[in-house]
Amino acid sequence: MYYGYRMPDLFRTISFRLTLWYTGIFSISACVAFVLFYYLAVSTLQGQTDQELLEKASQFSAVVQQDGLRGASNLAVIEAQAAGEKLIFFRLLYPNGEVFASSHMSYWKDIKVNQHLLDQLVKKKSHVFDTRTVDRTQKARILYAFVARNVILQTGIAMDAQSRFLNAFKLVFGVAMAFIIGFSALSGWFLVRKALLGVDTITRTAKQITGSNLQKRVPETGSKDELDHLANTFNQMLDRIQTLVSSVREMGDNIAHDLKSPVTRIRGMAEMAMIQGSTMDDFHAVAADTIEECDRLLGMINTMLVISRTEAGESGFHFQQVDATRMIQQACDLFIPVAEDRQIRFTCSVAHTFYVNADIKMLQRAFSNLVDNALKYTDKGGQVMVQARQKSGENLEIQVIDSGPGIDPRFQERIFERFFRAESSRNSPGTGLGLPLARTIAQAHGGDVRLKSTPGRGSVFTLTLPYCNFQVI
Ligand code: ADP
Repeated sequence: MYYGYRMPDLFRTISFRLTLWYTGIFSISACVAFVLFYYLAVSTLQGQTDQELLEKASQFSAVVQQDGLRGASNLAVIEAQAAGEKLIFFRLLYPNGEVFASSHMSYWKDIKVNQHLLDQLVKKKSHVFDTRTVDRTQKARILYAFVARNVILQTGIAMDAQSRFLNAFKLVFGVAMAFIIGFSALSGWFLVRKALLGVDTITRTAKQITGSNLQKRVPETGSKDELDHLANTFNQMLDRIQTLVSSVREMGDNIAHDLKSPVTRIRGMAEMAMIQGSTMDDFHAVAADTIEECDRLLGMINTMLVISRTEAGESGFHFQQVDATRMIQQACDLFIPVAEDRQIRFTCSVAHTFYVNADIKMLQRAFSNLVDNALKYTDKGGQVMVQARQKSGENLEIQVIDSGPGIDPRFQERIFERFFRAESSRNSPGTGLGLPLARTIAQAHGGDVRLKSTPGRGSVFTLTLPYCNFQVI
């Protein structure tokens, strides 16, 4: 589609600049071609004239040999008369410049004997050419050549036909250049507009997209050209933005929902204390509950901050060489009482010593979340195992395997979203931030958290980390 531009805006457009380039390149190429052709024509025509003059000189030297200087003098007059006295002239002179015979010279009176060229000729002993102007406008080609030992012929031809040809050539050149510039500007503008039509469509679509109208997409032509690629990439970007915007909205809803319950609880407790509390102990109990709820809330807010900062690459992690085996063992030790309490068989077997480049506190947090979940969602009498192994030479895999309820395949990716909790887990305490935090931390370490789960049979959460081939320090 064609857009109307204001003049200063028009000069800034790619269309205008490309058209200018196109016209410039086209015109310069045409100009170079014309100039080359012009010089070729000039040198060819001059070559022919020079040849003609040299032939005259050899004719004169033959006559001097046969009939002497008188014969040559006669030939000068006859030849000039025959060809036209304005077209050609002949002068016979001695090397010192003294003229002893010539054709009729009234038209050629401006052409004097050039002593400097004569000296050159005497040195070269062959011939010398010169170009002069007669009658202000007319160009003439002049030859100085020896026709006998001490006799020089100065002869000149008017370059009349050549001048006419070259003038006509210049006229054609001017007209052709005007046409070429006009044509290249028009065709350039047309081609560029046609090529950039897709960009206009993308611009229009971008203008139509507002926060609430993210559904719009640029039509893809399927031609697989650059603009089709651009449209495709633009649409992919819109898909991503749409997903992000809806996840931000969803997250906002979730945050509001998850913060509402504890705040309502705190308010309820305070209200009850105000209405019913009579002793110091009542107020103490309410204060203790409030602190507990606030700690929970602060914990959630801090976790959310860690996740978003880590995702934004501003984690402030302190990476160092970490003995992962020790870290796993120490974390497992902390969970033994919990497992005993829940009557779950808990084993932790890490045979080798593995080193990773990690922020130990964050890594502990990610790993603990996985073990905590396994113990939390596995029923009494179940089993939880922790294993670690080096996979394909590059990654360290820490697996937390449980014999719990497993996870419905529909939710297996969603459980990594912030605040997502499966319906069946609502009775267990939790915030829905444990797995997103674990995955964000793992990804910030160059690894990931993956899940394999069969509902009814249990789950395997695998924390992968790039393996570090450190030696013990
Ligand atoms: P939280 O445990 O605080 O609810 P998480 O982000 O750690 O939050 O886990 C999200 C959800 O994934 C849980 O609510 C639960 O539904 C599910 N889940 C996590 N770990 C397991 C597990 N080992 N077995 C079964 N379900 C699990």
